[in-house]
Amino acid sequence: LAPAHIRAISPYQPGKPISELAREMGLAEASIVKLASNENPLGIGERTRAAINASLADIARYPDGNGFELKDALCRRYGVKMSQIVLGNGSNDILEMAAGAFLGPDRDAVYAQHAFAVYPLATQAAGARGIEVPAKNFGHDLDAMLAAITPATRVIFIANPNNPTGTFVPGPELEAFLARVPAEVLVVLDEAYTEYLAPAQRYDAIAWLERFPNLLISRTFSKAYGLAGLRVGYGLGSPEVIDLLNRVRQPFNVTSVGLAAAAAALFDDDFLQRSFEMNLAGMAQLTEGFARLGLDWIPSAGNFLTVKVGDGAKVNAGLLRQGVIVRPIAAYGMPEWLRVSIGLESENARFLEALPAALA
Ligand code: PMP
Repeated sequence: LAPAHIRAISPYQPGKPISELAREMGLAEASIVKLASNENPLGIGERTRAAINASLADIARYPDGNGFELKDALCRRYGVKMSQIVLGNGSNDILEMAAGAFLGPDRDAVYAQHAFAVYPLATQAAGARGIEVPAKNFGHDLDAMLAAITPATRVIFIANPNNPTGTFVPGPELEAFLARVPAEVLVVLDEAYTEYLAPAQRYDAIAWLERFPNLLISRTFSKAYGLAGLRVGYGLGSPEVIDLLNRVRQPFNVTSVGLAAAAAALFDDDFLQRSFEMNLAGMAQLTEGFARLGLDWIPSAGNFLTVKVGDGAKVNAGLLRQGVIVRPIAAYGMPEWLRVSIGLESENARFLEALPAALA
C-alpha cells in the first residue's frame, strides 16, 4: 500500500532496552550495564529534577506550543533572537523538519558514509534521493561533499562530532566549507555532542548564522544535559529557515515537562562540567583498556568510542550474554566495529571485564 520510497526504508535500530535483555537472558535489571545510546551516565542535575517535579502540576494542560520560556532561556544563553529558534521533540525532530521542509521528490540530500542514520532515513521518508559521500578516515570529507552537490541538492547533513565514529571537523574547516556551499542548499550542522568537545576543539557556529542564512544548527538536551527520555532538541538558523521549519512542525511537539526541564538544565553549568569531566575520565579508562587488549579504536570527540573487534555481531552477542549492552554498527557499514558509550567508572569496568570472553 505504501509508496516504494517508504517500503525501501530500513527502520532505525535503537539500542536494546535493559528490560528486554533482562527478560531474554533471565538476568536482574540491576545487573545489566547499558552503554548503547550515548546517554549521560550521571542522569540529571538537581535543579533540573526540581523543575521537572514542579512542571508535573500542569500536565493536564497542553504545553506552550511556541515554547516561550525555553526559547527565552536559549536567547539569553546564546544571544540569538526568538525568531532564530525552533524547538524539537529531540533533535531528530529538527532533522526531520529540515528534510520535510526542504526535500521532496526530484530533490537530493548529501551526507557522509558512516554518518548518523537519521540522515538517510529522513531523506528517504521525504521521497528525496540520498547521496552518500565516501568517508575520509571515518569522518566527513568536506571537499568530496562539495563535489557531490548536484543542481537538485537542497540539504547537506553534517554531524560534528559524528555518530557513530566520533570524528570531528575543526571549526575553521567548516566555516570555509560553508562559504563554498551554494546559497540554495541548507547545511544542517548537527551538534548533538558539541558540549563534549575539548576546549581546544570548540568553535562558535552561532556566530556564523549572520553570514550564512542557509545554515541550520541542530542541538539536543539528550546527551550532555541528560534528558534523552524527555525528547527536547532545538534548531538555530535564520528567521527565514526557522519560519519554514515551523510550517512542518507538529503543534505541541515538545512536552511541558520537557520544556521546563530543558530551561532549567540549560543553566546548570556545574552539572555540565561534571558530565564533561566524567566523560574525559571514562574515555581514558576505555582507551587504556583497549590498548591493553591490543584493540584499535577511532579517537572520539563525543561521549562514545568505536572499537574494532573483528566480528561485531559475535562479540556483541558475547557481551549481551554477560549483561552488557553496546551498539553493533553493521548498519553503518562497520560490521567489524562496536560503538560503546562512555559510562560511569564501574560501568566502563564491567564492559572491559566482559570484553575478553566476548572476543574469544
Ligand atoms: N544527531 C546525532 C549525531 C545523534 O547521535 C543523535 C542521537 N543518537 C541525534 C542527533 C538525535 O538525538 P535526539 O533526538 O535524542 O536529540
